[in-house]
Amino acid sequence: MQTKIQLTESDIPTHWYNVVADMPNPPAPPLGPDGQPIGPEALVPIFPMALIEQEVSAERWIPIPDAVREALKLWRPSPLFRAHRLEQALGTPAKIYYKYEGVSPAGSHKPNSAVAQAYYNQQAGIRRLATETGAGQWGSSLALAGQMFGIDVRVYMVKVSYEQKPFRRSMMETWGAEVLASPTGLTESGRKILAEDPASQGSLGIAISEAVEEAATHDGTNYALGSVLNHVCHHQTVIGQEAKAQLEKIGDYPDVVIGCCGGGSNFAGVAFPFLADKAAGKAVRLVAAEPASCPTLTRGHYAYDFGDTVGLTPLMKMYTLGHDFMPPGIHAGGLRYHGDSPLVSQLHQEGIIEAVAVPQLATFEAGVQFARCEGIIPAPESCHAIRAALDEALACKERGEPQTILFNLSGHGHFDMAAYDSYFAGRLEDFAYPEAAINAALEHLPKVG
Ligand SMILES: *Cc1c(COP(=O)(O)O)cnc(C)c1O
Repeated sequence: MQTKIQLTESDIPTHWYNVVADMPNPPAPPLGPDGQPIGPEALVPIFPMALIEQEVSAERWIPIPDAVREALKLWRPSPLFRAHRLEQALGTPAKIYYKYEGVSPAGSHKPNSAVAQAYYNQQAGIRRLATETGAGQWGSSLALAGQMFGIDVRVYMVKVSYEQKPFRRSMMETWGAEVLASPTGLTESGRKILAEDPASQGSLGIAISEAVEEAATHDGTNYALGSVLNHVCHHQTVIGQEAKAQLEKIGDYPDVVIGCCGGGSNFAGVAFPFLADKAAGKAVRLVAAEPASCPTLTRGHYAYDFGDTVGLTPLMKMYTLGHDFMPPGIHAGGLRYHGDSPLVSQLHQEGIIEAVAVPQLATFEAGVQFARCEGIIPAPESCHAIRAALDEALACKERGEPQTILFNLSGHGHFDMAAYDSYFAGRLEDFAYPEAAINAALEHLPKVG
């Protein structure tokens, strides 16, 4: 009975997979303020050319530079586990596998893209990166990557998390990053928000505005985003490529692949390499699991919207709850973004991938059961994927039908024990995002065409 399926360093993928090559329709282009598609040159003030080329690429395979593969060796290939104990506890005929990304130094999948982004910026002569972070996972990943490639990192951290999650902040500072509570008085965007609401607790959208503004107005400083964009989705495909190789090693293949979905990058990472097979005719379901309190894919509008609150980014066609969305205070901080990856959005709109929304309490219930069976304490974000996987496994039991389920365990929850505390103390509640707020967001969407 094999539990842990491992690869060796030489099995780390040599290329990133670009799903655009296998999409039935080309991606909807990003638009500028005039409503016209933007060219790559519009992104030059904030991104290095190599990443812009990846952002607009339609090539199926993008080579991973040696220096990036070397950096990835610190934690890759990541292990794939068969969840024997969990299967037994559920009494399901399903086989459950999970790919574990919590083995990176920052404890999640996010360094997979952070090291690539730091590398290309270093190659372009950039000395400093500005970025945002919600709960701190992306900020810590970029701080780590900045340290590896000799780049200074400034992180605009959503104020409520800055105050509630001091250890993520210490982690970023340990890796040499500077961390500011957003909104700050240092940017025009921050000052504008503070003028409207001096007590603003911040949001991802606001922090993005601040970081983008800093990068756009300073030579030698670029911007880095931890999810949503095409190049970030490409970078994460090392996850699914490895998982495929690991399953192949033991002669298995999934019927369903699941990832939790905030901006879409870890879902894309685990699912897109299987989408290549699906495009070639193979039967495999791909399921994105999101919070019922931030139901972007399942209840949002598919429309052009800004990626940030102030409106500094190009317009992207995606599922959105509106760029002025103020997230309810759920604990899965990494899933509280108003929008979603345009690639994931379009694939959902075209019916190629599925999405489910799961309520908060049921995700913690699943996470605790998982920890007690499998040992690993999952990040609250990852608990959404676990919930969806358990629901699939229980449905198999109901139907008396064996299936093979693969999910991505995007990170560990060692910095989120306060959320587990709240769950055990009965202080967490379910919150379904109200229909009225979803409709109201429509009114504020930028008018295009
Ligand atoms: C950031 C994060 C997520 C959500 O981001 P995606 O881009 O949707 O993957 C999920 N899990 C963990 C552990 C995270 O840190």
